[in-house]
Amino acid sequence: MDKKKNDHFFVTIEDMSDSGEGIGHADGFTWFIKDTVIGDEVEASVMKVKKTYGFARLLRVVAPSPVRVTPRCPVARQCGGCQLQAMSYESQLRFKENKVRNNLIRIGGIDRAKLEEVMQPIIGMEEPWRYRNKAQFPFGVDRNGGIVAGFYAGRTHDIIECEDCRIGVEENAPILRCIRDYMKECGISAYDERTGTGLVRHVLIRKGFRTREIMICLVINGSVKQLKNREVLVERLTGTELFAKKESGVPVQTSGADEVIAVGDVKMNAHKSRVTSISCSINRENTNVIMGAEIATLYGPAYITDYIGDVCFRISPLSFYQVNPVQTEHLYATALEYAGLSGEETVWDLYCGIGTISLFLARRAKKVYGVEIVPQAIEDARANAALNNIDNVEFFVGKAEEVLPEQYEKNHIFADVIVVDPPRKGCDIACLDTIVKMSPRHVVYVSCDSATLARDVKYLGERGYRVEKVRACDMFAQGVHVETVCLMTHIK
Ligand code: SAH
Repeated sequence: MDKKKNDHFFVTIEDMSDSGEGIGHADGFTWFIKDTVIGDEVEASVMKVKKTYGFARLLRVVAPSPVRVTPRCPVARQCGGCQLQAMSYESQLRFKENKVRNNLIRIGGIDRAKLEEVMQPIIGMEEPWRYRNKAQFPFGVDRNGGIVAGFYAGRTHDIIECEDCRIGVEENAPILRCIRDYMKECGISAYDERTGTGLVRHVLIRKGFRTREIMICLVINGSVKQLKNREVLVERLTGTELFAKKESGVPVQTSGADEVIAVGDVKMNAHKSRVTSISCSINRENTNVIMGAEIATLYGPAYITDYIGDVCFRISPLSFYQVNPVQTEHLYATALEYAGLSGEETVWDLYCGIGTISLFLARRAKKVYGVEIVPQAIEDARANAALNNIDNVEFFVGKAEEVLPEQYEKNHIFADVIVVDPPRKGCDIACLDTIVKMSPRHVVYVSCDSATLARDVKYLGERGYRVEKVRACDMFAQGVHVETVCLMTHIK
């Protein structure tokens, strides 16, 4: 190959990598080119050359793919958070379904024809925008010394101004404007990573889609006292003016706005968005971990409440909570359907977080045991069980691969169904081996990475479990990630 760095060439994009880069072939080489879409003919410039493949930068689209669309977000390419925004939503779904299918065939060793029989269509979104209930905006200083809020440009630490992320809620923009104005007026500085000085680092915004409660958490490099005149900020953020203006982008509610739903001791207004929790997270470390462990409240409780199905959850700034509440309902409903519960079963929910799936299952099972590594999450899980008057659940703090074998050896625990929802790296072998020993009738595997799902499916497949159903669920529209639920049944 005679191509060198910065050489230009033409190529047709034939495929896409799991991370969303377009793949094309030229001169016997495989090229990975970001920001391209299957079917594009492009001109690209060489960035890096390896033995049989290389990376190139998109210069221009010569002939656009039939599935190419104009990204809604003006900074889609720089931000890099939505790798698929230039693809029609339909083709995004096909891409994700294929990714799951190919991984299960190539890594999982499942026969293609058999897989087609058990694979159900991907659950896509009706409205694949404005779906995220959580956003974290970095604050910084632009070249002219002005305060900006936005996003880090893909893999860098330069902040691109963008207050209205199109996959985030409309309330974000007026909240960010309000905080920025307050900072300017009251002389509050934004954090500068290079020098480690300045106060406001990030703003975390979370919205309960059902309750319309909004949590704002300012991550600051200092003490709460340094937020001078913070009562001004609190007053503006909680005032009726914030979302009232038409130009705020938030639809103004006119009628039926005061219907109140009461569940347990939680009363909520069913229609109007309102800021109910304002807090600070203290982070003085020079790291790229966003949140600091210390939380100080400025207004309201340190949590908001939301619902998944008819189960109520308390969510605090540090807790993990699924970011797409609309699709989470579908995901959990699928997991529940796959679990096939009649009310008599004993179920283990491994990697249970704040107990979301556990509590969902508990309504239909005799007993549910949850296991989770983060102690704070288990505290939330227990509080959530109490909040919903669910008393047939029990939670363990610890690693799934340690708690399960321990309980099996000591207490000869039993399970009709085991649900797992591990992080991207999948399940540990010790965990899978114990599952095999316990031999539950069903294993319901919820996965955010179909490559490790496929690896674990193969392992369980060689030890008596057959894949009965698979369904992908699009939790991350416009991005490359895809969630999958897989039902495996023990062959007697
Ligand atoms: N099922 C939950 C959480 C899924 S995210 C939900 O749907 O909300 C995966 C969870 O696994 C996280 O809460 C993480 O803290 C936890 N985790 C990571 N490694 C673990 C391990 N080895 N054992 C148990 N839990 C673990």
